[in-house]
Amino acid sequence: MWDILQQIELNNLRSRQTDAEGQVRNSDFRVGGVEHRISKLELVCQALYELLRERGGMTDEELRRKIREIDLRDGAEDTRMRPKPVHCPKCAATTTAGALYCPQCGAVIAPKYPFSP
Ligand SMILES: [Zn+2]
Repeated sequence: MWDILQQIELNNLRSRQTDAEGQVRNSDFRVGGVEHRISKLELVCQALYELLRERGGMTDEELRRKIREIDLRDGAEDTRMRPKPVHCPKCAATTTAGALYCPQCGAVIAPKYPFSP
């Protein structure tokens, strides 16, 4: 009887281990996707910056100032853009930043900046 209980417990542990290993693989896959997207964004940002510098005469100092200005919009200089809650222009309901439509009344909610999250 003891051996049977031990075998059941061992099978349960193996099953949980298999589940955990699957979750790790899934996480690794998702992290890889995020890293790829970040790398692509870095490339696009660099290309846009170089075009602006070459064609528009933008300086590195202007870019640094603009980055700082944007960084401070959420009240903290921490190299992050944290979205603030958005209020529906029609019914004033609070919605999540980045929402295209008000979940209460369906009004269109335009982000303040084109790339706002
Ligand atoms: Zn609304």
